[in-house]
Amino acid sequence: MDYLPLFHNLNNRRVLVIGGGEIALRKVRLVQEAGAIITIVARDFCSDLLEMDAVDKQQGIGNLELIRAPYQQQHIHAQPDTVLVIAATNDAQINREVSQHAQAANMLANVVDDPGYSTVIFPSIVDRSPIQIAISSGGDAPVLVRLIRTQLESLFPAGMSKLAALAGRFREKVKAKFSNGADRKAFWEDVFNGPIAEQAYNNNIQTAERLLQDKLDTSTEFKTGEVYLIGGGPSDPDLLTFKALRLMQQADIVLYDRLVSKPVLNLVRRDATRIYVGKTAGDHSVTQDNINQKLVDYALKGYRVVRLKGGDPFIFGRGGEELEMLAEQGIPFQVVPGITAASGCASYAGIPLTHRDHAQSVRFIAGHHRSGKLDLNWPELIQPNQTLVFYMGLNGLEAICQQLQDHGLDATTPIALIEKGTSEHQRVFTGNLETLPDIVRAADAKAPTLIIVGTVVSLHNKLAWFNQDAVDNHE
Ligand code: SAH
Repeated sequence: MDYLPLFHNLNNRRVLVIGGGEIALRKVRLVQEAGAIITIVARDFCSDLLEMDAVDKQQGIGNLELIRAPYQQQHIHAQPDTVLVIAATNDAQINREVSQHAQAANMLANVVDDPGYSTVIFPSIVDRSPIQIAISSGGDAPVLVRLIRTQLESLFPAGMSKLAALAGRFREKVKAKFSNGADRKAFWEDVFNGPIAEQAYNNNIQTAERLLQDKLDTSTEFKTGEVYLIGGGPSDPDLLTFKALRLMQQADIVLYDRLVSKPVLNLVRRDATRIYVGKTAGDHSVTQDNINQKLVDYALKGYRVVRLKGGDPFIFGRGGEELEMLAEQGIPFQVVPGITAASGCASYAGIPLTHRDHAQSVRFIAGHHRSGKLDLNWPELIQPNQTLVFYMGLNGLEAICQQLQDHGLDATTPIALIEKGTSEHQRVFTGNLETLPDIVRAADAKAPTLIIVGTVVSLHNKLAWFNQDAVDNHE
């Protein structure tokens, strides 16, 4: 181990910073957040530091002092109760001198970006106070540290601070109730992995507190599960929300659809049981009632059930129907929105759905054929200055193009079909109402596909940015 991580209580302790630029500012902000009394020595101060000083004086806090002067060793001797000295000038030589002087005075020394001359280094911080995570590579790989930090940020919800604070308030009570350490541990694990934690993450602190009190009061434990209805996005796992990922990582059981991509499914907790409930056209082996019942049954057994759907669960996703039954049975649930296919495909095809020069509104339409007929309000769909997005329209493509023309839309109206949008297999076909059906047939496009109609499609040539090789090959 190259360094020993320690958490430094700087509250009301003296810190000396040498340097008055942006780099010094960053460190000053950090130590100020930790409650330090700060002296800054520099020839010049950036405007933010001057402003911080003004605020400090205005509010009579008195925790910040600026000394406009070139650095001299006496600045360190002047305040012998200083615990930490930070050298942040843009002169490496001066920084090193500062460090030597500080060490000679038995103070901790940090030289910004020069770990060799530091006795302490600043970690990268994920702050969910009172929970804090400090990450360091000892100066070897700062970019990697930043990546790790980003990943950790996504794993720990912002509401974790509140949960930790709530736990702090109950700590003594829980200790008093369970004399046995193992029981206490089990109690807290249950709290941090279940509905109480979820309530805190969702900023329902009073509910969380009540549930926690109830849990503490009832000695016999009672357990109901929860259902998370999660939008898995169109395909690219990078488009998942932090919340989706967090809940997927907690699942005991996952019921997923055909449209959920493999890379997304791979992010579900490894030990979770995966149940496929997708329907292929004409296959009714898993009916909707059947799915609803499964959700209820598993939740009543106390499992955390993830219902994972492609795109957004509330857009052509039957999410509402599944929740109604849960609501009737009093089973707690949450809904996590996902990027819907229209949004994902449009972005990844470089086709803005609205644009000041083209369309001021957009319609999402279910374009599937029922018994060979497309029953839609065509006169509304041919209105100018709007973009039409057809979901489930591959089989009906020809009929859609024909009907739009029959009702008055120009045959040259641009139209695009996006196959397997946002995935590495994405292909984008563009043409007009007359030409696109043949183009798509010749390319043998396969579901899932999304259709976009309107002059915004003309922007694709300029704005396409994703999977360009595939586009070049097939258009
Ligand atoms: N809830 C989903 C839509 C379900 S309906 C959502 O919000 O996206 C299924 C239709 O979504 C498909 O027929 C197709 O039109 C569209 N779709 C879903 N994922 C897609 C993708 N990756 N590429 C193109 N279309 C997609």
